[in-house]
Amino acid sequence: MAVTNKSAASSPEFAELHWLTVMLQAIDVGVVVLDRDYRVKAWNMWMQNHSGLASSKILGQPLAQFFPDLGSERFRAKAESVFLLNNQAFLIWQQQPYLFHFRNDRPITGNSEFMFQDVTLVPITGLSGQVEQLAILVYDVTDSAEAQAAFAEANARLENLSRTDRLTGLFNRGHWEECLQQEFARYQRTKQTSCLVIFDIDHFKKVNDTYGHPAGDAVIRQVSAMLAKAQRKTDVTGRYGGEEFTAILVGTDAAGAAYFAERLRAQVEAVTVTHEGRDIRFTISLGIAEIGPKLPTYKAWLERADQGLYKAKQGGRNQYVVMPAP
Ligand code: GH3
Ligand code: MG
Ligand code: MG
Repeated sequence: MAVTNKSAASSPEFAELHWLTVMLQAIDVGVVVLDRDYRVKAWNMWMQNHSGLASSKILGQPLAQFFPDLGSERFRAKAESVFLLNNQAFLIWQQQPYLFHFRNDRPITGNSEFMFQDVTLVPITGLSGQVEQLAILVYDVTDSAEAQAAFAEANARLENLSRTDRLTGLFNRGHWEECLQQEFARYQRTKQTSCLVIFDIDHFKKVNDTYGHPAGDAVIRQVSAMLAKAQRKTDVTGRYGGEEFTAILVGTDAAGAAYFAERLRAQVEAVTVTHEGRDIRFTISLGIAEIGPKLPTYKAWLERADQGLYKAKQGGRNQYVVMPAP
């Protein structure tokens, strides 16, 4: 029996199809349906708006013709598993920022040039029970991806702040000691030598007493800057206390550390800090301890460098003392 268009249009099945179609077009999610040959069978309004591709252009065409990335092995493998196993699959932005390269259409609030997407691949079975089509649902998750990125950045900044000393920008004692612990552990594995330098500004109380605390701060900043300039990339320097500084000279032996210490000592001796029109001169004393197999802990290594510093002070200041590996 022939069915006229009029009777089909008024049938309950058609009515259902009609509201489904309206929803499909209105929904704030990208909907694409592909057949077994990856030809486009549905392309909703959301996809049209974001891609700029009218459905009349793409329907019936292979998707990869318009989006070469979707011809990739990676997407195919995922899609094939949906076809074969009749299971949904998910692509999340953390693993792959997007499936379809669309511009981020919220450039005022966002920083990202493209739209981050979460994607669900849904198998659609035919009457035979076989998966005959595949629906791709595309969610715009740019807002939450950007929020997460901003959060991670803020965390990294906080972590950096918690590691550094405010006055000098050097590592603070806590973080520097963690690095020392790591270097000590590394030595246990590699037996590659390193030296620890600890130094202290001589008669610093007098600087404060004579020129005032802010002048003392200026001296501390000057010494920090000289230390930062003297260090190599692999060295780890820190402000250990008020006017005490430390450096791990990674991979440097006692002779190399002595050279480093003498150069820094001479530079500090030569420098003048001018604070509120007054010239301030000062010196430092340094202790150096080479690491060795007989040092039981990183603390023992640190104490040995401190003994060197004590000897340098006892010996008249403005000098360094090397403590060889015990
Ligand atoms: P020595 O040669 O034996 O090291 O003598 P010193 O006068 O330097 O003695 P000491 O190391 O005991 O004194 C450190 C002084 O540093 C005491 C403290 O008031 C001052 N100090 C500590 N931290 C700061 C700081 O951040 N700024 C200033 N201006 N002074 C500080
Ligand atoms: Mg001191
Ligand atoms: Mg001092």
